Amino acid sequence: MIQLKNAEQIRKMKDAGRITGEALLLAGEAVKEGVTTKHLDDIIRRHIEKCGAVPTFLGYGGFPGSACISVNDQVIHGIPSPEVVLREGDIVKIDVGATYRGFVGDSANTFPVGRVSREAAALIECTRNSFYKGAEQVRIGNRIGDIGSAVQRYCEERGYGVIRKYVGHGVGHELHEPPDVPNYGTPGRGPRLVAGMTLAIEPMVSAGSYEVRELRDGWTVVTVDGSLTAHYEHSVALTEEGIVFLTKIDSTL
Ligand code: MG
Ligand code: MG
Repeated sequence: MIQLKNAEQIRKMKDAGRITGEALLLAGEAVKEGVTTKHLDDIIRRHIEKCGAVPTFLGYGGFPGSACISVNDQVIHGIPSPEVVLREGDIVKIDVGATYRGFVGDSANTFPVGRVSREAAALIECTRNSFYKGAEQVRIGNRIGDIGSAVQRYCEERGYGVIRKYVGHGVGHELHEPPDVPNYGTPGRGPRLVAGMTLAIEPMVSAGSYEVRELRDGWTVVTVDGSLTAHYEHSVALTEEGIVFLTKIDSTL
């Protein structure tokens, strides 16, 4: 069942969202050649804990990191590691969750390591823009399918593939709550959007095929054809006044 949040609960989600957004921003600022994904994970864990919050992903289903950090053809759920050293031209996806006073924030972004190819930069930009195309559809009376179809259309018109196997979701008391928020769909289909809904909208976009597989580590998801992917996510709330971005702490993101 979709759990609607009242104004007080949304205010608490903003607190969790701010901590999440700050941790992601700090990690993003630390992305550069020679840095390990474990180092980025440490920055995230330290900030979340300093704020009195808990890294939501740590131990979630047995996940060993505080953040999911996925490089190049890795789509999501990459395990932070001291063995994974970022190289110029890589793109790195960092996905962060923080739980604070019973509420969860969930946000992801894709960062270039030094100078990246024009193709990689365009993929990152398309993924971010597609999120905002989806977010424009978060209006009372619209449906979940309006969000996904807007994301899908924007990406596919530019020749990109939208990952099907993993989707956005409700977020709030738990990291994953109903409803699913796919990055594809049919306008006018799916649950109706009402005030009090809190959603994690998160386009995962491939420069090639949208087919993915899981590595033998049991977590890391990669594209089957090895193509680059990007990820962009914010937790948002729908209120009578419209959409509120819960994890966005910097207007440039
Ligand atoms: Mg996430
Ligand atoms: Mg999410």
